[in-house]
Amino acid sequence: MLDSDWFANGVAMQRWWTERTLRAAGTSDSVVPFALRTFVLGASYSPAANDISISRILLRPPFFDAALPAPINFARLGAIYGHEIGHSVDRQSRFHPAGGGFSRWWREGTMAGIEAREECVSTIYTEKLRDFVPEEIARDPRQLSRLVERSAREALADHIGLRSALAALREWQKQQPSVEAIAGWSPEQAFFLAYSQLWCQSPTSVAEDLQALHAVHPPGPARINAALATLPEFGEAFGCAVGSKMRPLTQCVTP
Ligand SMILES: [Zn+2]
Repeated sequence: MLDSDWFANGVAMQRWWTERTLRAAGTSDSVVPFALRTFVLGASYSPAANDISISRILLRPPFFDAALPAPINFARLGAIYGHEIGHSVDRQSRFHPAGGGFSRWWREGTMAGIEAREECVSTIYTEKLRDFVPEEIARDPRQLSRLVERSAREALADHIGLRSALAALREWQKQQPSVEAIAGWSPEQAFFLAYSQLWCQSPTSVAEDLQALHAVHPPGPARINAALATLPEFGEAFGCAVGSKMRPLTQCVTP
């Protein structure tokens, strides 16, 4: 491994990984599948192992910076952790019982609750997607609903991630003797502003089309606005009128 050569490191890691996987084939050795994450920006949840994986790069700015006030870190790295844990109850993972297999093993009331939440989040996502996908997709209900369907797992995970990060912020606040304003913003406002910068992007029109047509993750601005609009706390923090765009009449949790 060399500090200065990303590509050579990637090749060396791939070679080591392939040899290790081949050695493990046919034996009882388990191969931990996330070693390659050292080299890619990303995070994931594995339903089979029921664990999450966060790449090392996410432990650096702009996702995490120990020198910044805690509300900023809760909103970024905290929300990413929450997002991945949120995948454990998404429409794919919740059908994986502890002993393996695929079944509807939750109690009916619990299942109905998460399905209702998912429906609520999807409705708000659909609204926000209209603002950020190419116009021909926004105007075509079939294309739009395909995009919503494809990204439903991510939408729910975004909602859960943001909500968990906010809950963590509130717990942290209880332990502080006093929490000061951050550059003139209240801790909640700073938290939401930091979250809103999480998926800043400046795509070309081709990249925009590709994302709308094929990507699992919806466009960054739609993800951010949708997740924020699912929580009443955002509208309260910024004094948005009830029924306005970012504080819709139907939100997905009661304050
Ligand atoms: Zn995800």
